[in-house]
Amino acid sequence: MKKEARDLLGDLVLGRITPEEAEAIYDWYMDNLTSDDPPVTEMLGFSKIEWTAHAHGAEFQDIANWRAHGWPNRCFICGQPINVEKFGWFTREHEGRMQLRHITCPK
Ligand SMILES: [Zn+2]
Repeated sequence: MKKEARDLLGDLVLGRITPEEAEAIYDWYMDNLTSDDPPVTEMLGFSKIEWTAHAHGAEFQDIANWRAHGWPNRCFICGQPINVEKFGWFTREHEGRMQLRHITCPK
């Protein structure tokens, strides 16, 4: 594999790679990037919110779907809106799919 900047989630959205291939590419980059390389988020084309969601356990396919079709924008605990760009949330599986909840619900 060549160490070059790419768009991992974009490739998933377009069906150019499978979720398994996305995992393998991610693992390869994590194993092979050094401190001389740009950050992995840059190399793999993740936004900050996408990277955060992955760190919280969302699958690449979930995040790719959110990029393509829009993010969940309500907390599954309290039902109040979540402004994804402002953080203060984490991802959890709820009723069989990955969703967002506040770290601390407003009420
Ligand atoms: Zn909430």
